[in-house]
Amino acid sequence: MKQADSPETAKRLLELQELDSNIMRLTKRLEDMPEKRAILQTRKKRVEVDALLQKAKLLSSRLEKDISRLDDECRSLGSRIDTEQAKVMSGSVTNPKELVAITREMDSLKRRRDKLEVDEVILMQKAEKATAQTAVITKALDQLAKQEEDQKAQFVEVGSKVQDETARLTVQRTRIAGSLPADILARYDEIAKAKGGVAIGHLDGKSCSACRMQLPAEETEKLHKGPALATCPACRRMLVVDLPGGEVE
Ligand SMILES: [Zn+2]
Repeated sequence: MKQADSPETAKRLLELQELDSNIMRLTKRLEDMPEKRAILQTRKKRVEVDALLQKAKLLSSRLEKDISRLDDECRSLGSRIDTEQAKVMSGSVTNPKELVAITREMDSLKRRRDKLEVDEVILMQKAEKATAQTAVITKALDQLAKQEEDQKAQFVEVGSKVQDETARLTVQRTRIAGSLPADILARYDEIAKAKGGVAIGHLDGKSCSACRMQLPAEETEKLHKGPALATCPACRRMLVVDLPGGEVE
C-alpha cells in the first residue's frame, strides 16, 4: 500500500511540480513569442509604407492630369496661331492696322505657349521623380512582404517546437498525476491554483525552496522528525522534508 506521505509520493510530487513549472514556462513562451511581435511590427511598417505608396501614386496621377491639361492648352494655342498665320499668308487681310493686330495676337499666343511649354517640362520632371519614388517604395513594400513571410515561417517553426515539447511534458504529467493518491493530487492542484502554479517546495537547508523563507531552527527540527511530506509553516505549500538518498535537489 502506498502511503499518502511516503517519500515516493513526495518525490513524485516534486517531479510533477518540475513538469508543471516547465509547462507553464512553455505556455508563457507561446503566449509571449517575440516572433509574433516581430510580425506585428512588420505589418505596422507595411501599412505605413503602403500609405506612402498611395501618396506617391496620387501625386503621379495628379501630375499626369496637369501635364495632359497643359498639353491640350498648348495644342489649342498652336491651332489658334496656325489660324492667324493662315489668315496672314492667305493675303486676305490687307489693312495694315489689322495685320499689326494679328501679328501682336500671334506673338502673345506664342509667348503663352512658350510659358506653358516651360511649365510642362517642369511638371514632367516632377512626374519622373514621382515615378522613381513609387518604384523605390514598391520595392521596399515587396521586401517587407518577404520579411513578413520569413517571420511567419519562423513563428510557425518555433511555435510548433514549443507545442510539441508541451505535449511531451503533458503526457509525462498525466502519467505521474495518475500514479498519485487522488486526495494528494487534489490538494496539490488546489494549492497550485491558489499560489501561481507552485504547490510544493522542498526544505533547502533552513529554507523552503518555494517561498525562500528561512525557518527557525526549532521548526526545521520539527519538520525533520515528521513525515517526508509536510506543510511549509511560512507559505502553507506542501513541503518535502527528506528523501532517501538525498534525492531532493
Ligand atoms: Zn514556503
